[in-house]
Amino acid sequence: MKLLFWVLVLALFFFVLGFKRGRPDRPSASPASPARPAGPPPATPVEPEPEAMVRCTACGMHFPASDALPGRGGQFCSAEHRASFEARLG
Ligand SMILES: [Zn+2]
Repeated sequence: MKLLFWVLVLALFFFVLGFKRGRPDRPSASPASPARPAGPPPATPVEPEPEAMVRCTACGMHFPASDALPGRGGQFCSAEHRASFEARLG
């Protein structure tokens, strides 16, 4: 019975060895892939940036810079926020 055990161990050993050696050597990660033609990088959809966004110092809301109300301490989304923030400043 011991012989059968060792035969099985050896069979398993050679099976694993053969499996590792018999693995096809596929060039899966070749640096120069012929599928992709050389050229400019793929054009990413360019988002039109219409306006810079600023953050309201009082509430943290983002809004177009053209709507910003400059005040003490930063930009504000509304006169109310500017007034309340400046009131908190003292
Ligand atoms: Zn605000």
